[in-house]
Amino acid sequence: MSADPSRLPPPPPPAHDWALFLDVDGTLLDFAPSPDGVHVPADLIDDLRRLHDAFGGALALVSGRRLETLDALFAPLWLPAIGLHGLQRRDGGFAGHEAPREIASVLAAARALGAKYPGVIVEDKGITIALHWRNAPAAEEPLHEFASSALIELPGYCLQPGHDVLELRPDGHDKGDAIIALLQSEGFRNRYPVFIGDDLTDEHGFEAVNARHGISVLVGMRANSAARHGLHDPGAVRAWLREAARLLAPEAVR
Ligand SMILES: [Mg+2]
Repeated sequence: MSADPSRLPPPPPPAHDWALFLDVDGTLLDFAPSPDGVHVPADLIDDLRRLHDAFGGALALVSGRRLETLDALFAPLWLPAIGLHGLQRRDGGFAGHEAPREIASVLAAARALGAKYPGVIVEDKGITIALHWRNAPAAEEPLHEFASSALIELPGYCLQPGHDVLELRPDGHDKGDAIIALLQSEGFRNRYPVFIGDDLTDEHGFEAVNARHGISVLVGMRANSAARHGLHDPGAVRAWLREAARLLAPEAVR
């Protein structure tokens, strides 16, 4: 299956009966050198607010970040949200997981390794640990080796690869499961699911909405994606959302 967005058709015009699920980093927001460095345009906040209203509240963020971080980034919005790749949901908190005791020693070892490679960011997300090498490409292989061996100390954990990042996280929950769960909740039920995402972790979401005759949209390029529609980059996603807000909430004048 082709995943070249120049060959994948853009998503169709939006409708009021959609439930729109949006990944954040690399989808709504351009990547930054560090996870804390991302910029959230004010216009995007405004468009998301208008679309949230236009979909009767059925607009959710679906991210690897913690819910608390999403709320801070998109303040003053407080959107329905899935965090930590599906481990957190707005309605359910952590999906039955607590961080194991061993996570502290693995985190300390990750920081010790990261300190040898300037630019590596070891992100403590409580129940998960993300290892970023965007600014330290030479660290990719050592970090992979470290993470693979750390799995021995963290039973029930798996590796979640992403763009210049590898994350140690509990197995068994993914963005697809979380989208399906949210689709069964008040406000999302009986709506047409649409998911826009860019990363490997988003493939579970694409498969979930495809199985429900929804719309899957890949941002950027990747081979073997399950997505059936494409947008070129986060700027194209924001422009598409702007147009969707204009179509569905034309009464809003700026
Ligand atoms: Mg992403």
